[in-house]
Amino acid sequence: MRLSRYFLPVLKENPSEAQIVSHRYMLRAGMIKQSSAGIYSWLPMGFKVLRKLENIVHEEQIRAGHVPMLMPTLQSADLWRESGRYDGYGAEMLRMKDRHDRDMLFSPTAEEMFTDVFRSHVKSYKDLPLTLYQIQWKFRDEVRPRFGVMRGREFFMKDGYNFDLTKEDALHAYNRHLVSYLRTYERMGLQAIPMRADSGPIGGDYTHEFLVLAETGESEVFYDSEITDLKFGDREIDYDNHAECQAVLEEFTSRYARTDETHDEAAFNEVPEDRRCTARGIEVGQIFYFGTQYSEALGATVQTPEGKNVPVHMGSHGIGVSRLLGAIIEASHDDKGIIWPEGVTPFHVGIVNLKQGDEEADAACEALEKSFDALGLEALYDDRKERAGGKFATMDLIGLPWRITVGPRGLKNGVVELTSRRTGESVEMPPEEAVKKIAEIYADHRVSGL
Ligand code: ATP
Ligand code: MG
Repeated sequence: MRLSRYFLPVLKENPSEAQIVSHRYMLRAGMIKQSSAGIYSWLPMGFKVLRKLENIVHEEQIRAGHVPMLMPTLQSADLWRESGRYDGYGAEMLRMKDRHDRDMLFSPTAEEMFTDVFRSHVKSYKDLPLTLYQIQWKFRDEVRPRFGVMRGREFFMKDGYNFDLTKEDALHAYNRHLVSYLRTYERMGLQAIPMRADSGPIGGDYTHEFLVLAETGESEVFYDSEITDLKFGDREIDYDNHAECQAVLEEFTSRYARTDETHDEAAFNEVPEDRRCTARGIEVGQIFYFGTQYSEALGATVQTPEGKNVPVHMGSHGIGVSRLLGAIIEASHDDKGIIWPEGVTPFHVGIVNLKQGDEEADAACEALEKSFDALGLEALYDDRKERAGGKFATMDLIGLPWRITVGPRGLKNGVVELTSRRTGESVEMPPEEAVKKIAEIYADHRVSGL
């Protein structure tokens, strides 16, 4: 992609409304534009990263055996009256009437919709287990939308729902979600720690929130520092194997890690003092087992092998896809701008031409572009007639992990410069070698985008 033909409305000044770094950089790097409180337009580069995150979530959900589909954003209030949540949900629910005076709402979550689809079509234990999910826009009329996409009113969320015959099977689905979430966040270059969360009025121990540690996080968290050494890595896992999934859950949740809602000072004090950490975190996901609450209310039953009709055991599981953009930037930036992890970067590499219009430099940049294209890697080529300093500042701000700098002087010696955004280190090498290096770096990080 040529920068001169792209749409990247970079801001020079710091926008005054942005209180935290991710919001500031997303506005400055031309990724989003506020449309009204907590509602954003996704400009091309923001949209590109959003799509990559969405694709990672899809890939990992499908790997776990979960089935993607799509629900409408506007729903009839009747279904919510049936489950008993319509009146209780409160002011966060955006309610509206259609031309026939029927009550409608913009879905803040979709337990009712999924349970309704399920009850219409599934009647037998033979069709279980089943986990359906979607990645769809949600609306919650938050009291205080803030921090850009972190707490929006309109936000993009993956929500999945498991339907199982027994509690044991539903807990397996719970464990499977935990494992798939660990993989998902790691691929995004994030450490998201599962922490025991508050299950609210429903009760039970079966809910975990995933938190990314960051000073600007809205939750206070308490954890055993040993937990930050745990990595899921590239281990293979059989998602159908209950014991395997259970073992991963135990590995990642047996150490103390809780949000302020479930914090227990006495239990925390049992962690050796030098490992006791208090910090702040951003909630990027939550998993939940809630039993038969919705299936009973909505009559979602299946026939058992013995011929009895029983309500199915359910859970729901969410990932804050749009919030993740903010969380990734909070976790990975410096004072010059964003530093994208390789797994989610909008473009794999930036090409900076130090002397636009110089025949040799232009040709070398175009050759690089072609090589990357042939490899299926996306390069953003800054072909504007601008000073080098301005080009570097833009590249640093938008945070592509790798940059190739091309100039007449280097080309005389047959070299270009390859620079790491994270370390700032530059190495000179022939252009073909730089291409090879970049291809190697991304061998494990192939996600399609737009
Ligand atoms: P919070 O406590 O932050 O309000 P929640 O617990 O109400 O979130 P869930 O219902 O668990 O949210 O939704 C699943 C995920 O969706 C959350 O873990 C979070 O990452 C994301 N999310 C929730 N509300 C918002 C919002 N207003 N803006 C952006 N993302 C959100
Ligand atoms: Mg939550």
